[in-house]
Amino acid sequence: QSWPASEGISYSHLKHILQDTPSPESARKWSEYYTAGPHLAGKNKSQAEWTRGKWESWGVKSSLATYDVYLNYPVDHRLALLKDGKVTFEATLEEDVLEEDPTTGMNDRVPTFHGYSASGNVTAQYVYCNYGTFADFEELRKSGIALEGKIALIKYGGIFRGLKLKRASELGMIGGIIYSDPGDDGEITEENGYKSYPDGPARNPSSVQRGSAQYLSVAPGDPTTPGYPSLPGAPREGVEGKIPDIPSVPISYAEALPLLKALNGHGPNATAFSSAWQTGGLAYKDVHYNVGPTPASITVNLVNEQEYVTTPLWNVIGIINGTIPDEVIVIGNHRDAWIAGGAGDPNSGSAALNEVIRSFGIALEAGWKPLRTIVFASWDGEEYGLIGSTEWVEEYIPWLSAATVAYINVDVGARGPNFQTAAAPLLNKLIYEVTSEVQSPNQTVANQTVRDLWSGHISTMGSGSDFTAFQDFAGIPSIDVGFGAGKNDPVYHYHSNYDSFYWMQKYGDPGFEYHVTIAKIIALMAAKLVEQPVISFNATDYALGLGLYLESVKKLANDSDFATAKGTFTSLGAAVASFQATASTFDAKAFDLMAALDKPSATAPATRYAEVRSINTKYKFLERQFVYAPGLDSRTWFKHVVFAPGLWTGYAGATYPGIVEAIEDKNMTAVEKWVDIIEATVDGAISLLEG
Ligand code: GLU
Ligand code: CA
Ligand code: ZN
Ligand code: ZN
Repeated sequence: QSWPASEGISYSHLKHILQDTPSPESARKWSEYYTAGPHLAGKNKSQAEWTRGKWESWGVKSSLATYDVYLNYPVDHRLALLKDGKVTFEATLEEDVLEEDPTTGMNDRVPTFHGYSASGNVTAQYVYCNYGTFADFEELRKSGIALEGKIALIKYGGIFRGLKLKRASELGMIGGIIYSDPGDDGEITEENGYKSYPDGPARNPSSVQRGSAQYLSVAPGDPTTPGYPSLPGAPREGVEGKIPDIPSVPISYAEALPLLKALNGHGPNATAFSSAWQTGGLAYKDVHYNVGPTPASITVNLVNEQEYVTTPLWNVIGIINGTIPDEVIVIGNHRDAWIAGGAGDPNSGSAALNEVIRSFGIALEAGWKPLRTIVFASWDGEEYGLIGSTEWVEEYIPWLSAATVAYINVDVGARGPNFQTAAAPLLNKLIYEVTSEVQSPNQTVANQTVRDLWSGHISTMGSGSDFTAFQDFAGIPSIDVGFGAGKNDPVYHYHSNYDSFYWMQKYGDPGFEYHVTIAKIIALMAAKLVEQPVISFNATDYALGLGLYLESVKKLANDSDFATAKGTFTSLGAAVASFQATASTFDAKAFDLMAALDKPSATAPATRYAEVRSINTKYKFLERQFVYAPGLDSRTWFKHVVFAPGLWTGYAGATYPGIVEAIEDKNMTAVEKWVDIIEATVDGAISLLEG
């Protein structure tokens, strides 16, 4: 394109800089720095300052944004298997130290524990609960398995870990043990003959997934300040209903084995349950996957001791001012990690973000000044509950609502070769365009792009990373990107000591090529969003999405045993159809205007500017139309009426969550209420675009 850049260099020159600057050598260097020591939330000020210094050295004005947040650090834990009161197995609750992998043996390495877990000391019989989904617990109940007073032994996977504990607690269970079953590792398992890390690509049997146990789908952020920033002196609310009230520990499959085997012969077998229960990967180790409960003579003692503190944490915020003051894009990645390494999570993203900023720095040096403002963020406290990003959005919500065009998130930037993305549909087109401009590191045919090797699937926004407050609280259209692993790629040791620099170099992204590729993708998305005179959104995709989501809600209503009245969705359907017509007319107008900008014209520049400005303002506020200030019925922090994390999934998104939850509650009044609310937001979107 030949658009004039706002100042300095041309758009095509800018794109060249952004494609040519990121290098594997520097990505590797940033990865090595970030992964060299523990950087738990609230304990990583030196890395915050280092990051700020780097960004400044690349010409980006940067500062620290500090919040005082409530969170926990581990003190002590124990897990023992008892037979008739005697210890038959005492878990180490530690990952093996590997000679090859230096950060696995550090003296100050982070113990295995759950963020926001409850302290407690319980001894009880236990039950195998599969993935601990809502449906899994329903199956146990229907089979008459006694859950009350028992401890839940649950596999990782499927849903957000905190929600497993939430349901267990609601059903009267008194503790949770969550383990990583190799049945969820795809093809690359010891059972299939692969050696385990560090000798091979399979899961190290001692690996443990740490992670937050907060009730993510209720509200992210500091649980003591929902909806407002955790600034010094802020009033604090209680945490009941937001974090678990039963103790829990994460364990490895090596240490789950004795517990699973002790269930053999007790209670029904998992094979008697639905297909969701058939995936255990330890049968070859003599685990039968009986659900239990264990007989009264077989119990576990679970001890979890956590210290709760209110402690500062540090976001790094960098800014490149554009010439238009109230059109801003934000790009963010978290910096805190559960472990010393965190080479994949988050530091592949942190390394990539540094490469993005370094590249923009070179453009600045060449005289570039963007049309729109770019804000860069290195978030702290993501792991505990998206804290740094949530508190920052809560603090700056008036400005963010008025000015922000889009948010781009990268968490795990690279841990395998498969491009993965979730986005608000306004941005779908941008993703297809940019991935078609970036070469894939893995070409079987010359010049294959990332787009060529990607299925093209874009997930709807759920949660589990820092886009949540932007998308669901502020109504800012967001994108999440990264390269993940397929079922035939080396197993990623998520939240384990083995997500280390050594693993990344040997298995994850040895050439750091995917680090570089994700950096290029992010930089080009940002460049297009800030430089294209008419904002690169597509309202038609949004409108079409609304139609598809409506079909799926209708199907849900149809399939459920709760009969919604005939005609419930008719007028919403009509509103969506009319939004589709409005949106496609609007996009066509935007497209024509864009094309006209490239041609000589008799239109006075001031008139042209006003036309562009009018289109952009409408695009900017389009997503905001779907924010409903009172929020969802059962979780009022979530304000978006189209997108929210699923109430019982956490990671996976729900569309029209208000209607979905009303159907699940079999509450016709609530269904009608939500249909009306959503219809009003769609009408608002139509008026905005037509006004
Ligand atoms: N990425 C973190 C996780 O999945 C997010 C934690 C949270 O949202 O509470 O564990
Ligand atoms: Ca807050
Ligand atoms: Zn992460
Ligand atoms: Zn994480």
